[in-house]
Amino acid sequence: MKADAYRFDGKTSCDLSRLPTDAGTEKGKKAEYAEKTAANLKKMESLQEAFYADGREGMVILLQALDAAGKDGTIKHVMGGLNPEGVTVYNFKQPTKTELEHDYLWRVGRCLPPRGGISIFNRSYYEDVLVVQMHQLHKGYRMADRVLQESDREFFEKRYHQICHFEEYLYENSFRVVKIFLHLSKGEQKERFLARIDTPDKNWKFSAADITERARFDEYNQLYQKVINATASEHAPWYVLPADQKWYTRYLVSEIVVEALQKCAPSYPKVTDQVRAEMQRARVQLMAED
Ligand code: ATP
Ligand code: MG
Repeated sequence: MKADAYRFDGKTSCDLSRLPTDAGTEKGKKAEYAEKTAANLKKMESLQEAFYADGREGMVILLQALDAAGKDGTIKHVMGGLNPEGVTVYNFKQPTKTELEHDYLWRVGRCLPPRGGISIFNRSYYEDVLVVQMHQLHKGYRMADRVLQESDREFFEKRYHQICHFEEYLYENSFRVVKIFLHLSKGEQKERFLARIDTPDKNWKFSAADITERARFDEYNQLYQKVINATASEHAPWYVLPADQKWYTRYLVSEIVVEALQKCAPSYPKVTDQVRAEMQRARVQLMAED
């Protein structure tokens, strides 16, 4: 599938400066891809129904990106086709006071799906090695000296390992984690910020903090690259998707979700002889009603 070109499972290293932010040769095929996406959404719908009924595996799909890369829109357009009964979206914002009193995975545990369910993470525990590392937020946490005395390198290397173990733990307990990074160009981010400023209906999306973060655009990409390489694995791969054309990103995400669901090979639970007999009796009873 097309999205395989953007998949990182730890075997090859990810170099963001060499990876495209745009659709390349596919540019100009918007209508074609919109149709393909619609077809994938149909497939997703029936696969998810079987996945939900089956209840043997659970799934976390997480999205990470710099501001205005299209996380919200992707969730709305691609995941909107799923049956809400089996899907929950969680937004990971700045931790609350209570959340900060706990370890960083504490708030994640409560957002994990049951088997048969899908949790979509809009940002995730990866913020705890991204924004926290970039702004040295951990230095302000109340933690024991033995933890705070570690060098930044040690502190975050440990967190990468903890995350890898956490994802392995989930996989070994019948959950899959699919990780998506929306790779946006600095030029396209500027256009999207300007649109937020110039279009009244988009004003609400504008945040002055986004502009200060933009000043560190390249630093963020370097950090993302480090984090992706430290945490990509066969069972919890990263997909680094070009994000400059929303229609192309959405198509790729729809492909990834279809494939992830297919890998679980969902099947409806088998009906036992006893249940079959009960159904037959119920049928007779219903038919006899009038
Ligand atoms: P949009 O792209 O629409 O602005 P958003 O995901 O940026 O959406 P916001 O409410 O603007 O949503 O921002 C949430 C903020 O919370 C982000 O800046 C993110 O970095 C921050 N955040 C998330 N997790 C943590 C964390 N563990 N520690 C510190 N900050 C965090
Ligand atoms: Mg924001």
